[in-house]
Amino acid sequence: MVHVADVVKQAVRIPVITVGRLGYPDLAERVLREGKADFIALGRPLLADPEWPLKAKEGRKEDIRPCIGCHDGCLGRIVHVHPLSCAVNPATGNERELEILPAERKKSVLVIGGGIAGMEATRVAALRGHSVTLYEKRDQLGGHLVEGSVPEFKNDVRLLIEYYLTQLKKLNVKIELNKEAIPELMQKIECEVMVVATGSMPVVPDIPGIEKDTVVSAIDVLAGGGQVGEDVLVAGGGLVGCEVAVYLAQKGRRVTVVEMQGEILPRVFEANKQYLHKMLTENGVRVLTNTALARITDEGAILVNKIHRYEAEVAADTVVLAVGLKPRDDVVRHLECRAVELYHVGDCREPGRIMDAIWGAFETLRTV
Ligand SMILES: Cc1cc2nc3c(=O)[nH]c(=O)nc-3n(C[C@H](O)[C@H](O)[C@H](O)COP(=O)(O)OP(=O)(O)OC[C@H]3O[C@@H](n4cnc5c(N)ncnc54)[C@H](O)[C@@H]3O)c2cc1C
Ligand code: SF4
Repeated sequence: MVHVADVVKQAVRIPVITVGRLGYPDLAERVLREGKADFIALGRPLLADPEWPLKAKEGRKEDIRPCIGCHDGCLGRIVHVHPLSCAVNPATGNERELEILPAERKKSVLVIGGGIAGMEATRVAALRGHSVTLYEKRDQLGGHLVEGSVPEFKNDVRLLIEYYLTQLKKLNVKIELNKEAIPELMQKIECEVMVVATGSMPVVPDIPGIEKDTVVSAIDVLAGGGQVGEDVLVAGGGLVGCEVAVYLAQKGRRVTVVEMQGEILPRVFEANKQYLHKMLTENGVRVLTNTALARITDEGAILVNKIHRYEAEVAADTVVLAVGLKPRDDVVRHLECRAVELYHVGDCREPGRIMDAIWGAFETLRTV
């Protein structure tokens, strides 16, 4: 809205306040310095971090918990007649009841999995004074959001990962990367509390041709692995499928999304849904709803229209799977350690969104 404020400012002699996604201190500062407005108004950034102005003033922008623009915890809750809060800050609106207090007894806590749920669990446990160790089997923290933040339009999610990396570093938590919790290792580990945050993995549908080299997961595509041809079929019209479709279309691929349900993006907040619809249209992505992926062939795929019940073959040199995630509980079921208390947080309980992962981890560790 800054360009609008700029025009208004040139026409009036009273102070002009501008608003809208100005939660980046450098950007907000530039708007003021360039004289495009007299004041910055912050809405959602203050729900994500009420100390935003103080931290910006003190030059601690790395400590600002960023708003990711999801609407899941703020307007999305109001629509469902729940009190306003924030996906990345569960205490918003409940600051007194949900204050992070020192633990009555300090314990040794082992967190397994450094995705967003594991990082939040680690952060809260460390703030409460527990002695925390975090195991992550990959060479970096962030879980699915490492790949989920690859598209340029997911910059805010990238900032959220950076926020956690900074906070965990400042809290002096012991982080062990490239460390996979396997049963043999766990039997040797002594800890009082074990938090399992091993996340989720892609669902692979049981259909003919699924084993072909032309089939890749959305996560692999975003990670830069797997060859992607010119004609791409994305199976699944949820958030992940639509985002990977836009990402590939922006890279010049011809992309079609097939979705079994009657609409795409069913659980996405209306404003975000409209925005993604616009991006799909602007980037020329074809969307087929009420359509199921029945078979993968050497030339592409056989699709079935679920309403009119006809089959059609579409040409595609790559099929990208984005048909959902399932808990990574195979490891969890076999993990044994002599922990007195055992908790599961995030996608390994039930695949969900960033808000579910953060809220679940926060709520669990707040009382351990
Ligand atoms: C491509 C993509 C984009 C997404 N974008 C969004 C979005 O924009 N907004 C949103 O709300 N949600 C989004 N999601 C969903 C979101 O990523 C999940 O809700 C969130 O990642 C769940 O966090 P988690 O920590 O439970 O699991 P994960 O992110 O899966 O993290 C689990 C971690 O545990 C590690 N691990 C597993 N087993 C072991 C073991 N035995 N030992 C040690 N470490 C182990 C894994 O390597 C991983 O780092 C997206 C998902 C995907 C796949
Ligand atoms: S719920 Fe999402 S959009 Fe709303 S303030 Fe929090 S991070 Fe921002």
